[in-house]
Amino acid sequence: MAASYDAPSEFHLRKRFQAIFNNTFQFIFVVHVDGTVLEINQAAINFTGISAHEARERFLWDLNCWLNEAARSKLQASLYRASGGEFIRYTTELVSAEDIRAVIDLSIKPIFNSDGNIDFFIVEGRDITSLKRMEFERDRERQHAEALHRINEMKNEFVSQVSHELRTPLASIIGFAQTLLRSPHLAPDKVQQFLTIILDDGRRLERLVEDLLDIARIESGTMHLVRQPSDIRTILEYAISIIAPEAEYKRITITQAYLDTHLPLLSLDPDRITQVFVNLLANAVKFTPPNGSITVSATRTSEYVQVAVQDTGIGIAEHDLPRLFEKFFRVKQKDSNGQDIRGTGLGLSIAKQIVELHGGTIRVQSIVGQGSTFSVIIPLSSHHDE
Ligand code: ADP
Repeated sequence: MAASYDAPSEFHLRKRFQAIFNNTFQFIFVVHVDGTVLEINQAAINFTGISAHEARERFLWDLNCWLNEAARSKLQASLYRASGGEFIRYTTELVSAEDIRAVIDLSIKPIFNSDGNIDFFIVEGRDITSLKRMEFERDRERQHAEALHRINEMKNEFVSQVSHELRTPLASIIGFAQTLLRSPHLAPDKVQQFLTIILDDGRRLERLVEDLLDIARIESGTMHLVRQPSDIRTILEYAISIIAPEAEYKRITITQAYLDTHLPLLSLDPDRITQVFVNLLANAVKFTPPNGSITVSATRTSEYVQVAVQDTGIGIAEHDLPRLFEKFFRVKQKDSNGQDIRGTGLGLSIAKQIVELHGGTIRVQSIVGQGSTFSVIIPLSSHHDE
């Protein structure tokens, strides 16, 4: 027996469609071609807090549920485009009556009548906030994993670098000490020469260990400044005196271009600031070929004191400049004899941290083949009131 099907009455049909309209999760607005709201469904009413009565006869973009002016203009422009018959879809944001923001996948669909003209638009919004949040979390996790991977790579490179840096002076200390022990009748000048090498390499090891300890202190936030009223001129002169023998050895001149400048006493940690300038000067000597020159200048304004260490060295390529102050970062370079220039890439990152602990900044300018200028800017708020 065939089942009979009674077509629903006009009344029932309307009830069914109304039930669908008001029970779907999507926000739905039925909008006149001129942009005025004809209907708004329950989901949209619930989220926006705007009643059907309030919404009707107002322009859709005038309802106060759109995030901002830009969202309103975009909606207005999109409705205008849809009035040309186009289906429009884009992501926008809505704000609820309780000020909760939602990311909305919005579509505008023109509905045509039998004459082929647009009757009205169905503007439909799907709340994709949680989807977006998941995407965001996924992105963040991926970035986090990538950062970890990068750090791990840097750490491995660092471990092999440090091992290399440790091994070379250790091998030389052990080698020369053995030679001295095994050759009791060595000429005194040879003994002197070998002991000097042992001492130099011992000092290099000491410096490396100190740098590593500084990095550990910076990372754990336990590097504390011992500030006292300090004369930057005295600090510079002391730093220059430490570097002078190495500079002389390479016949590099060091010019002090601040002797007439009045420099106020600043509240600094003199040992730490000395360390910064010794590092900058040592780099300037290291990366400047023999017979070059280094100029140390100091200027002051009403706000800061600026010390610049300028060299006529090999310079740094522009693409390396942004990474120069990262720890472990080094540009692989050779000296004028084709030997690898040694280093750990720690000095500048420590210098930067020390300057920043003083509230200052450190900058670099460089031209490959012409030289580099490192500037340390210390605010006068580090000024010591006598
Ligand atoms: P290190 O000197 O131990 O490698 P630094 O952190 O002091 O570590 O310096 C990092 C890198 O910056 C150096 O390897 C070098 O490539 C570059 N650099 C620093 N100072 C200069 C300079 N005055 N001229 C040229 N390159 C420099």
